Amino acid sequence: MTKKDYYEILGIEKNSSKEEIKKAYKKLALKYHPDRNKESGAEEKFKEISEAYAVLSDETKRSQYDQFGHAGFDQRYSQEDIFRGANFDDIFSEIFGENIFGGSIFDMFFGGRKRKSRGTDLRYELNITLREAAKGLEKKIKINRKTLCKECDGTGAEELRRCNNCNGSGQEKITRRTPFGIFTQVSTCSKCKGNGEEIIKKCKHCDNGLVNETKELKINVPAGIEDGSRLRVNGQGEPNKYSKNPGDLYIDINIEEDEIFERDGNDLILEMPITFSQAALGDKIKIPTLDKEIEIKIPAGTQSGTIMRIKDEGIPYLHSLETGDLLVKINVITPKKLNKKQKEIFEDLAREENMKLKAGKGFFERLFE
Ligand SMILES: [Zn+2]
Ligand SMILES: [Zn+2]
Repeated sequence: MTKKDYYEILGIEKNSSKEEIKKAYKKLALKYHPDRNKESGAEEKFKEISEAYAVLSDETKRSQYDQFGHAGFDQRYSQEDIFRGANFDDIFSEIFGENIFGGSIFDMFFGGRKRKSRGTDLRYELNITLREAAKGLEKKIKINRKTLCKECDGTGAEELRRCNNCNGSGQEKITRRTPFGIFTQVSTCSKCKGNGEEIIKKCKHCDNGLVNETKELKINVPAGIEDGSRLRVNGQGEPNKYSKNPGDLYIDINIEEDEIFERDGNDLILEMPITFSQAALGDKIKIPTLDKEIEIKIPAGTQSGTIMRIKDEGIPYLHSLETGDLLVKINVITPKKLNKKQKEIFEDLAREENMKLKAGKGFFERLFE
C-alpha cells in the first residue's frame, strides 16, 4: 500500500514553517478527534494526521522524511517510535483545554485506553463572569466526593483471607454428571462474589472501602467558552462499590450576566448614551471594552440607534485565534430638564428649523433629509 505524503495529509507546502504545520494539524485535529467526531473513519483519519504531525513537528524526523521519503523513513522508525517521541500534550491542551480528553495519544493508538469499569461521574456547577469567559481562566474549585480508604486500600477490610470456596480464583466450577457425559460450568464464586478474598474483620475507618474527602482541583476554562458548556475532567469523579476506578467530573459552566455588556455569540453589545449636540456636531467619546477604555469618533449627524462595529473587541472564538466584535449601539438622549440657557438655545434652534420649514420643501423631502 502506498502511503500518502505527510505534507499532503496536512494540506501544507514542503517549506511550511513549524507554526504553519501546527496550525494545519490543529484545524484537522478539531475536526477528526474521535471524542468529537463519531463518523466512521474519523479515528483512522485522526491517526493519519497525527502521524504526519508527529513526524513533521520533529526536526530530525522531518529532515529524514524529506531525505528518504516514506520507504526509507519507515525502515528507520516504527509506528510506536513515531508517536513515542512526539509531544501532543501542549497542542491538545491548546485545542481542547486541559484534561478535557483523557489519555495520551500513544495510549489511544497503542492500547491502554480500553475502558475499564468505572465508578460514578460527578457534576459541578461553576459560575463565572462574562469577562472570565472571554479571557479564559484557571479556577480552583472544591468538591466533596468519595475516595478509596487509605487504611484498607479500598478493600473495606482490616483483615482478609483467601476465599476457601474458590481458593482465591473468584470463580467456582460446578461439575455435573449426566447421561451424556460430564459437564463443567464456571461461574462467579458465590461466597466472595468474585473477589477471591473474604473479609474477616471490617475496616473501621470506612464504609465498604470508601471515605469522604474534600478535594481542591484546578479547572482550566478556555477563553471564549459559552454559557451552558460542559467540561470533562478525566478521572476526578468517585470510585464506587462496583469499581475502584473513579468516574469523571463534569463541570457545567454558568456565565453571569454583565452589567455593561450583552453577549451575542462572540460579539458584545454596548449601549452608549450620547447627547443631542454630540449626535448633531460629532464628538470623540471614551467607551469601555472588556479590558480597557478606548476612544471612538462619533460622526456629525449620527442617528439614535446607529450601531458602530469595533473590530476584535468582542469574545474570542473557542480554540481559535479569531475574536468577535464590539457593537456600540448609539442612544441619543433627549434631555428631560433644561436650564434657562439651554432652553433659549433650543428655542433658537426651533426658530431656525421653522424658517427652513417655511422655505417651502415638501414634508417627505424634509423627512428624508
Ligand atoms: Zn478502610
Ligand atoms: Zn470465592
